[in-house]
Amino acid sequence: MSIRAQIINLLKDLQSKFSLTYLFIAHDLSVVRHISDRVAVMYLGRIVELAANDLLYGEPMHPYTQALLSAVPIPDPEAEEHRRAVVLTGDVPSPADPPKGCHFHTRCPVALEGRCDVDDPALLEVRPGHWAACHLITADGYPHIKAGEDSLVETAAGIKGGDE
Ligand code: SF4
Repeated sequence: MSIRAQIINLLKDLQSKFSLTYLFIAHDLSVVRHISDRVAVMYLGRIVELAANDLLYGEPMHPYTQALLSAVPIPDPEAEEHRRAVVLTGDVPSPADPPKGCHFHTRCPVALEGRCDVDDPALLEVRPGHWAACHLITADGYPHIKAGEDSLVETAAGIKGGDE
């Protein structure tokens, strides 16, 4: 067992033994999934999605979360073969000088011109216990796009088409 795995297991043991609460900050989404009850995804220093572990990993809403999760390898050769990563283009902007509007709009594959580059979406509870900051996600509906599918852009095209 790797030292990292031993440390994670030790943390979990201590958590259970002493009823501890951790604020665990990491880039490794597999580890985050293993250790967390509730997960907040941040982009340029802001929370863009917040939900219980199973909700966030099972049905991610925010395009950034979906892109992140689509890049995580699946330990099942068959599922892995069908995994389609959402590749984000462009550089990560400087947090000291973030873009106007939604901070993610310069890299978001479903950004709406004239909206996302102007208005900053609020972090809203779009269903019980599930928070997201995106103009495409409302309490009435949101693009049900599973991480790894390549329908992100198609769905957005449908949404944009419906707006026209
Ligand atoms: S608000 Fe717009 S740019 Fe930001 S994540 Fe949603 S669709 Fe993408």
